[in-house]
Amino acid sequence: MPFAWYDLSDDPEAHALARDLNLPNPAPTTVLFDDGRALYDPTIAELASALGLTQEASRDRYDLVVVGGGPAGLGAAVNGAAEGMSVVVVEDDCPGGQAGVTTRVDNYLGFPAGLSGADFAHRALAQAKRLGVEWCSAKVATTLLPRLGAHRVVLDGGQAVVGRAVLIATGMTWRRLDAPGAAELVNAGVYYGASAADAKEAAGEDVVVAGSGDAAAVAVLRFAEHARSVTMVVAEPSLSTAALSDRFAQAVAKHPRVTVRCGSQVGEVRGYGRLEKVVLLDAATGGTDPVPASALYVLIGMVPFSDWVRDIVACDEFGFVLTDGEMILRPELMPAAWPLDRPPLLTETSVPGVFAAGDVRAGTVKRISSAIGQGAVAVAAVSHYLDTLADVDEDSES
Ligand SMILES: Cc1cc2nc3c(=O)[nH]c(=O)nc-3n(C[C@H](O)[C@H](O)[C@H](O)COP(=O)(O)OP(=O)(O)OC[C@H]3O[C@@H](n4cnc5c(N)ncnc54)[C@H](O)[C@@H]3O)c2cc1C
Repeated sequence: MPFAWYDLSDDPEAHALARDLNLPNPAPTTVLFDDGRALYDPTIAELASALGLTQEASRDRYDLVVVGGGPAGLGAAVNGAAEGMSVVVVEDDCPGGQAGVTTRVDNYLGFPAGLSGADFAHRALAQAKRLGVEWCSAKVATTLLPRLGAHRVVLDGGQAVVGRAVLIATGMTWRRLDAPGAAELVNAGVYYGASAADAKEAAGEDVVVAGSGDAAAVAVLRFAEHARSVTMVVAEPSLSTAALSDRFAQAVAKHPRVTVRCGSQVGEVRGYGRLEKVVLLDAATGGTDPVPASALYVLIGMVPFSDWVRDIVACDEFGFVLTDGEMILRPELMPAAWPLDRPPLLTETSVPGVFAAGDVRAGTVKRISSAIGQGAVAVAAVSHYLDTLADVDEDSES
């Protein structure tokens, strides 16, 4: 949605607008619409509803309820609808998931100049809607009540959408930094994840990267090509004890613009409205060291969005959803024994008729094309599953 942003901290036009609207001081975040409506400190759900971006589920039951509108969910929705299934997508935020907020995607086939994540997301959503997919955004799935032929996905607010099959495509997110000041400065100097495009934005800046895996090392090396200095904050006592490939460990250790701070963590984040300093905490001595920085990139591990189904379908020790072969190999992680004579279908979870695709699924490649492909594979399995449902009593408990 195109919009103009007026910042009360430094924009005289914003002050004039606030005066015209009689906004109190401090002013709430105010959204003004062309038709004169105004919303004050709206929730995402209120904003989506006012913009006409969300809809209520229109059917009592769908062939497929997709939870999560990222590449996996949208890929499944498009393929399912194209096959004639009735499909609804439940999404708690914006279309595109992690991909939707990526500045630029360079490895997406067919777009030689790359495309922005937002462009990708809106194209995919438009395609899904054209094929008849219902899009319920700003709705959080809170639990799943399995029932053969009529699985209920319960939403915040208490209502439920019912599917003969359900696809879990809720993805994952970066682990949040638990340091004072970090939450207030998210997107104002504190960022989760880092892309190649972010590195170019950091030309001449002082950057801190928190994390000790390969993803953090790749980010450090990319930033080091453009930034004035890069500090890598590693919790482990040395690079050799971190979960880091040797070649990356050597590359960061010898880079002239990179300082590696082992045995450290981010103790505090400081700045007024914008990041100014990252305070490093030495694990051994408890000493602190404020490092000036204009950007802090946090890459301290990923967590899957699977809390809402954690006790219902089998998940691995990190919370990634187990499917088909991987699940059968780890029966000790199944909440209940596999109930059918047939083996689970590709991408099927420990609950028959409930499937998983994309980053939330255990053992997958965490990329956009991979997620889209898994969505398509899941739909093929759902199609097969729906055929088998015709033979069973759909009212019996699963
Ligand atoms: C900064 C960044 C840059 C990246 N760049 C690239 C790149 O250039 N190329 C590439 O191939 N890959 C890239 N990736 C990885 C890629 O974006 C992911 O692998 C891909 O988006 C995974 O898709 P997904 O659909 O499985 O999950 P997600 O994209 O995570 O989508 C899941 C969706 O489900 C929603 N959701 C979660 N829980 C609930 C719930 N309970 N109820 C309702 N909705 C819920 C989430 O809000 C989200 O919208 C990047 C990732 C990041 C973070």
